[in-house]
Amino acid sequence: MFRLLAYFSFPSLFLFLCFLPRFCFPARITPGQVTVITTDDHNPAWHNFTRFKDAEKGSHVSGMSELKKYFQRFGYLSIPDNQNDSFTDVFDARFESAVILYQKKFGLPVSGKLDSETISAITSPRCGVSDTGPAVHATKHFTYFYGRPRWERGSRMTLTYAFSPTNMIDSISLPEIRTVFQRSFSRWASVIPVNFTEIKDYGSANIKIGFFSGDHGDGEPFDGVLGVLGHAFSPENGRFHLDEAETWAVDFRKVKSKAAVDLESVATHEIGHILGLAHSSVKEAVMYPSLKPRSKKVDLKLDDVEGVQSLYGSNPNFKYSSLLESENSSNKAVALNPTPLVSTVSWSWVLLPFLLLFMIT
Ligand SMILES: [Zn+2]
Ligand SMILES: [Zn+2]
Repeated sequence: MFRLLAYFSFPSLFLFLCFLPRFCFPARITPGQVTVITTDDHNPAWHNFTRFKDAEKGSHVSGMSELKKYFQRFGYLSIPDNQNDSFTDVFDARFESAVILYQKKFGLPVSGKLDSETISAITSPRCGVSDTGPAVHATKHFTYFYGRPRWERGSRMTLTYAFSPTNMIDSISLPEIRTVFQRSFSRWASVIPVNFTEIKDYGSANIKIGFFSGDHGDGEPFDGVLGVLGHAFSPENGRFHLDEAETWAVDFRKVKSKAAVDLESVATHEIGHILGLAHSSVKEAVMYPSLKPRSKKVDLKLDDVEGVQSLYGSNPNFKYSSLLESENSSNKAVALNPTPLVSTVSWSWVLLPFLLLFMIT
């Protein structure tokens, strides 16, 4: 049996062992490898936050006060009382609590540190609506705005929507935009007893949709490409604003930009706010706060449906079974992905006897 080894010279065995781990075992995923942060995918201002990676309680990094403002903006940190109303660059206990709250809200591992996954979430494009604060609290699913506001128009209500006559974009035609919004509204209408109808008169519509840039008068200025993508107000306000600066896309085959954002995904998300839902911690849910460029998330998940139905009740034609069926099929699709890993592991079993043989000698 050991004659087999005679066919191998010592140098070749040495080389074989040197390279064996690369072929046999899947690369160990370290936190640094989990996400690749590039300027193409993120708001340039938020991209600067990557330098706070690995900061933890006790760290002092110049400019961290800017990151604290970000946390304050999205509802995780209140303005300090006794420090002349400004944040310091120290990673203190208060900021650690804010990071923990953020990690819980985004369904991330709760480390209390600015690990790579947390930094990646922070720099991802997102909705401008605050996640927590006095209005809502962090839970493991959907949330409402403070006081659970909802539209009150009787049991089977119709809400009207209109597009701004002045604040639209040229890159997508109006008929295409109208089709996208029809589809987005119909997804919500299929699960609750609410109809949505487009009307021409912007002034009298319940829901007013438009594209705006920079400071546009509602105290929530937009910030250019990526970063904040849009925002909408809780019932019965009806204002629905999208950042004009985004590279909005209806079909990614036609729009090649790495920063392209799917209009239908953002529209479906913002309609959830218009109806009274705040952000969800469920990553797959439409009401999750962030959306990667060139990605699409338009199908309501169980979490979205349960949230909106507890505000409005169920559409009599809605069937949970069809929703569960579609969720199961999408889960199966996800489960198929790790195939390459399995094949790598099985190769390690093929080569293992040779390794053991060598070690015995
Ligand atoms: Zn949102
Ligand atoms: Zn606005």
